[in-house]
Amino acid sequence: MEATHALARIQNALERAHQSDALGHCLLFVGAGEQERRRIAERVSRMLLCETQSGRACGACSACTTSLDLHSDYYRCAPAEDARSMSVDDVGALTHFATLSSSHGGYRVATILEAQTLTIQAANALLKLLEEPPSRFVCVLSAHAISRVLPTIRSRASVIRLPAEMIVESRKGESISDAISAVTHAASLEELKSSIDETEHAISLAVKHVLKQEIADSTSDLRWLSDLSRVLDRSSRLARASVSPRLTAEWIAGRVGPIPNTL
Ligand SMILES: [Zn+2]
Repeated sequence: MEATHALARIQNALERAHQSDALGHCLLFVGAGEQERRRIAERVSRMLLCETQSGRACGACSACTTSLDLHSDYYRCAPAEDARSMSVDDVGALTHFATLSSSHGGYRVATILEAQTLTIQAANALLKLLEEPPSRFVCVLSAHAISRVLPTIRSRASVIRLPAEMIVESRKGESISDAISAVTHAASLEELKSSIDETEHAISLAVKHVLKQEIADSTSDLRWLSDLSRVLDRSSRLARASVSPRLTAEWIAGRVGPIPNTL
């Protein structure tokens, strides 16, 4: 229920931006889990491709009832299972798509999933496209942490942070691992503080999850979560004392053990 509310709130905000022509040509979704990021990137793409152009996917037109992958004005770029990175050639194919004209007279939409896996060369190629985007072209990016996206790309994107509540109950562990990764990769104190807050929030969701599921090994899971919470409490103090994010990240990395696979 919480996840549905969070998604609806974000969609309403995007819809208002779209209706007032303030959506911009690059959206970047960060936070939550990989599946949630992909889901919202695809929903927003559908909303943009809908033939009613009302800022909402009507669910009835041919764009809304065709699989996104079959829509000629849609393109998806994602790391291959075995590669886990996207190359300059991947972005080249996307750039070519962006320059073609729309077959339906509306937007052309490209999603780049898990943009933190773009190589530096690929990110720079994407930057060239974003610096001079073709008209009626929108690029929808997702990434697990804002700090993993090239600052020059970030500065050209409207950043939308997805709340941890969106994570479905069965994948709280992924949310914690994403959040810890964001903490240990924070590039500034501000990012460090906000990723510590996100992790604390993910911990409280995981505790609720463990208590509700009555998992057999719940005592050790709860102990691990409480240890993590103590490490974060200490790192919050380091962040407040303006200790550099790199030193704080090293300090945390040395103290956080692997996530129990029951979580
Ligand atoms: Zn539609």
